[in-house]
Order: sequence, then structure tokens, then C-alpha cells
Amino acid sequence: MTKKASSTSLEKLGLHSNLDCILHLPIRYEDETKLSTIAEAVGAFGGMTFQVQGSVVRQEVLFRPRRQLLVVIRDEEGGELFLRWLNFYPSQQKQMALGQHLRVRGEIRDGFYGPEMVHPTVKAVPPSAPLPSTLTPVYSTVAGVGQHIIRQAIHKAFQAPDLQALVQEILPEDVLKEVFLNTSLPTLLSALKTLHQPSKSDDLDSIQNRTHPAWRRVQIEELLAQQISLLQVREKRLARQAVAMQSQPVQSGILDQFLKKLPFQLTNAQAKSWQEILEDLSRPYPMNRLLQGDVGSGKTVVAALAALHCIDHGYQAAIMAPTEILAEQHYRKLSNWLSPLGVEIAWLTGSLKAKEKKEAQEMISSGRAQLAIGTHALIQEGVDFPKLGFAVIDEQHRFGVKQRLQLQQKIDGVEMDCHQLMMSATPIPRTLAMTFYADLEVSIIDELPPGRSPIVTKLVKNERRDELIQGLLAELQKGRQVYWVCPLIEESEVLQLKTAVETHAYLQNALPNVSVGLIHGKLKGVEKNSIMQDFAEGKIQILVATTVIEVGVDVPNASLMIIEHAERFGYAQLHQLRGRVGRGSAESICILLYGSELSLAAKERLQTLKETQDGFIIAERDLALRGPGELLGAKQSGEAMLRFIDLQKEAWLIEKTQQLAKQLLTSYPPIAEKHLQRWLGNRAEYLKA
Ligand code: ADP
Ligand code: MG
Repeated sequence: MTKKASSTSLEKLGLHSNLDCILHLPIRYEDETKLSTIAEAVGAFGGMTFQVQGSVVRQEVLFRPRRQLLVVIRDEEGGELFLRWLNFYPSQQKQMALGQHLRVRGEIRDGFYGPEMVHPTVKAVPPSAPLPSTLTPVYSTVAGVGQHIIRQAIHKAFQAPDLQALVQEILPEDVLKEVFLNTSLPTLLSALKTLHQPSKSDDLDSIQNRTHPAWRRVQIEELLAQQISLLQVREKRLARQAVAMQSQPVQSGILDQFLKKLPFQLTNAQAKSWQEILEDLSRPYPMNRLLQGDVGSGKTVVAALAALHCIDHGYQAAIMAPTEILAEQHYRKLSNWLSPLGVEIAWLTGSLKAKEKKEAQEMISSGRAQLAIGTHALIQEGVDFPKLGFAVIDEQHRFGVKQRLQLQQKIDGVEMDCHQLMMSATPIPRTLAMTFYADLEVSIIDELPPGRSPIVTKLVKNERRDELIQGLLAELQKGRQVYWVCPLIEESEVLQLKTAVETHAYLQNALPNVSVGLIHGKLKGVEKNSIMQDFAEGKIQILVATTVIEVGVDVPNASLMIIEHAERFGYAQLHQLRGRVGRGSAESICILLYGSELSLAAKERLQTLKETQDGFIIAERDLALRGPGELLGAKQSGEAMLRFIDLQKEAWLIEKTQQLAKQLLTSYPPIAEKHLQRWLGNRAEYLKA
């Protein structure tokens, strides 16, 4: 490998400098320090990883059930082990020729022929080859950049003459000590050394499970950078200007009228959230609040109140939703509520005809529209809000960072930011809220409107699909409506569409007197909207759907939901889908159909869904499974910003670090800045959203 080639491949990994290399910490370690006999490995079974060695006594390419390479090794004690490769190169066959001595490392599984390793790591070495004396670090990498290249680069970086200066201690020792009283923390340099090259005497378990003081030090460093950055964002926001709308109604009495006309009373949780928003709106700096409430908790009416308050003060309000269907729902609901009060509403989405679009834009830019509802078409070019005071962004994690920024800039002409309310049905566990949302106030609607019966969730085997028809008819006879959700086929949209069409035909056939509708992602926005409208009006009794209905759709009369191949959906998706029923007073049922081959994870997921309807519990499980990136949307989580910490386990660390960040910003601003640069550099931008 020439020097040049290796440096470009390191660039691919984002490793531009010695410091980058030193901060590129292992994602895990391999323990190659121990050698087991094959008998020991086979005896232990069940997914444990072992390193064994032996000579090849058989090598064969099999063609059933598919082409594969089978190698059998035997060790000195006479134990034999099958090794199997489903993809392989001729060079591997050569490396593992009969009689060759191999050292292999992998997971023991109970295979077709007996205990085996599939795709183990293999080294051709003599039996007496020495074992490493300590853990072997494994680094995250990209295609074409081997582990040895990274290890070499890191090793070299540690030889840099200016190493001490590079990794010089920035944080004042006494402050660190004061905050982390009972935690003994190594210096940063020594922590980094330990993590890249653990020594024999280190506690290897705690290095592997990331509780070693060296990890602690690094976790604190990284978390601290993030917290400082978030606090700075907050300070900047408080320094900006927004319209201060006094909490007292202006003159029109429009809010009272609205509340009087509502067919229901606000729940306590709704009233409390509304008060919190009202207070924020009265401040001269922009609100940045998240209204969080489980599906069906009634966020829309709170948003409507805030919009109306803003209109009452003579400013424009906007409501933006990530999909046409969702935007349409808001439009319909809010028109019903607000048009009778004389509020002028503009409707703007990408699927409008050019002429309609122009009209809507004109209505908005002339200031005639008091409320604008739509998709991200609202923030695209050609839309100017002369007096935007308040904006609602529904399901904000579905928008990209940039899209949200644009909405903020809209008001620049008057040098005012608009107050922003985000709404989300994805409950965010507290640890996440603290780490990623330090600049976000949160209101929580933690009770459902009264009179809702809980949703009964049933797990039913796929083979019994036909038996569902009876129950389905019974529901229809009561005048209720049904969602039938088609399986998710991630590899192929075409296939997914095909199943949806087939299911639609199957139901039409089985129930000739019932009106069955079909909705999927390939339809045009207008078509989708008109189907949803028909369903909302009861003209369609059973709606066969792909996941396009996942978010926000509100048809209270629908009381039965059937989800096919529920095992293919994730926690959040299932929870969202299920939330489409149980919105009226009728008892609702959700049936999760599942296929025959359930993985353990899928089983647990379906069981959890059956047992609880609590979005927070479901979100916690989801977080444990997938990490924050997917829960919040990749960008929002600052991508790989917190790489070293398990937020589930280390909540205490977050609290302490937040305290430290505040202390540094107050007493040692230059240190805070320096620390930020070291850890985030240009990535700090991600957090500004
Ligand atoms: P989400 O929080 O999922 O967006 P919605 O705002 O769509 O929920 O409200 C769900 C349903 O509950 C709607 O039909 C809405 O009109 C109704 N609703 C909202 N608040 C109340 C309440 N306080 N009492 C009764 N029904 C309510
Ligand atoms: Mg909603």
C-alpha cells in the first residue's frame, strides 16, 4: 500500500489529521487472547463467540440447498468443527487447503450438520503462533479501508511530535473533579491510549462494555461538546426577536367563540399545554416548543387555539405537515372549526394546479390569508408571509433540517422570527430529550380524551386470515369502518403495490356488498385525498392501505384495524398504525397478523404491542433496539454525534455533564469554545436546527 493510497482511503473515513485519527475510537473489541478447544466451544453452544484452531480435514463445495463452501477442522484433542461460507473466493479455498492449520474465530451455531461457524474469521498460522496479549480494537470503516490501515494510521498519529499539544487537557481539573465527585477520570490522552491499545493489566470487561474510566472520560468529553453547543443555540434563540403577543385576548372574542363551539371540553393536559404555549407566545423571543402527545391525544385542537390567538393579534399563522394526506386532514378539520368564525384559510400543496397554487400564494403574500395550511410547498419559493407570527410543524422529525430552517427565515423581511410549535406523536424518552433537545421546551399531553375505550390488540397467525372475514362483517354491521394494512415490502415498492391490489380484490370478492377502497403511495395527491375523504364520510367501509396512512389520519368511526405481516413493521410504525383506531367511543380492535417464521425480536415486538398501548414504553423499547438516530431522524440526532455512550444506561452522566456545560459557559467561555471545536468542529452546524 503506497502512502498516497492509504491517505485517500483515510479521507473517505473523514480522518484528515492526526487528531481525527486519535479521536476515531474503536466501535468494539475482539478478544483474541484466549484459545478454546473445539470440545469447549461446541459444548457451550448458543451464539457465543470462540477462537479455536485445528487442521483442515475436509473441504468441499456443496450445491444444496445452495452453493456453499464447507470446511472441517480438527484440533489436537480430536474435536471437529464445521465452517461454512455462503459466498467465497477461490483464494479462500486455497488458504484452507487440506492439512493447512487454521486459527478461526466466530460464533458457534447449531447448524444442519451439527455445531458450526458461519463465515468465521480465519488466519492460517502454525499451532504455536503467539496469541495477542490484549483486546484487538475494531474500528468503523468503509468499503476498501481495511482495519490494518486504520490501526497503522492511529499508531502513527500517536507518534506525532506534537501529541501532547494535540490532546492537551482543556477542561479545568478542579471543575471536573467537582462535578464528577466519585468518578476517577484519567487524562484525555491516557484515556485515548487505553481505548486504542488496552494493556494487559486493564480491566478488559469494562473496556468492552464501555464502563471503564477511560470510556467515561471520553463519553463526558463528547457529551459535553454536545451540551455546550445546545446551550449556545438556546442563548442565540433568546437573543432573537419575535412578536410578543400578550396573553389576554385582543378584542374580537374569537377564542371564546371557538371554545364554546367545540363539541368537547379540553382535557386537563390539553389545557395545560395550551397555557404553556400562550405564555411562550407572549415573550419577545421565538418560541421553540415541542407538543408531544400520543396518537389520538388531541394535539390538533391545541395547535388551532394557538393559531387563532396569533390571528387574533393580527398576525398570520401556518401549519405545515409532512404529507398531503396529513395536511388535508388538518385543512378539513381547521376549516370546519375556523371558517365559520370568519378566518381566511389558504391551502397550499405541491399537487395543486399552477393556477390554484398561484392563487394560494397570492392570498398568503397579500396578507389576506390569516392561516395557511399545507405541505412543505409552504416554505418553497414564491411564498412570502408578510406577517408570519406563528408556525406549527406537525411530525417535525419527518422534515429535513433545512426545510425547517427555511420556515424560520421566512420572517426575515421584518427581522422577526416566528414562534414555532412542533408536534410529534413519537414520544421521546427523557434521556433523549435532555441530550438532543436542550434548546426545546416540551409540553406533554399525557391523557387521552375521555370516553375512549382501550384498543384490544390480538395476535393472529397468517393462516387464519380467512376467518377474520366474520369479525370484519360484524364490525361493518355495527356501522363501523375498517383499515386493512398491507405488508411492508421494503425491497420492492412494486411488490408492495401488488399485494395491496390483490388484497383489495380478495376483499371485494369475499364481501361483494361492501364498498372497499384502496390507497397507496403511487396514487397522486389529489386521488389520495379524495379516497381519504370518501373514507372519512363513510362512503368507503373498508380501506385497504399501505403505510401511507401511518401518520395522523383521523377517522373516529374506524374501529377495526388489521395489519398483515405485522412482524415486518417496527415498533413506531405499529404504534402509529394502531393509533388510527380507538379514536371514537366504540371499542376498537387491532389484529396483528403474523407469518410463521418469527424472529425473537419480532416476537418480543408483537408481544409488547399486545400488552401495552403506552407510547412511552414502546418508544423506550424502540430506543433500546435502534438507537436515537432513527427515533429522531438521522439529522436531528446530529448523526454520529454521540458515538460512545449508551443513553439508556448512562442517564446520570447526562445530568452531570449538562451541569458541567453550564458551569463552563458561565465561568470559562473560552474553554467551552475550545472544547467545542475539538470535538465537533464543523459538525456543530447540525445542532443549530
Ligand atoms: P393527535 O394528537 O393524534 O393529532 P387529534 O388532534 O387528531 O389527535 O385528535 C384525535 C381526535 O380526538 C379528534 O377526532 C379530535 O377531534 C378529538 N378530540 C381532541 N380533543 C378532545 C377532547 N378534549 N375531548 C374529546 N375529543 C377530543
Ligand atoms: Mg395529529
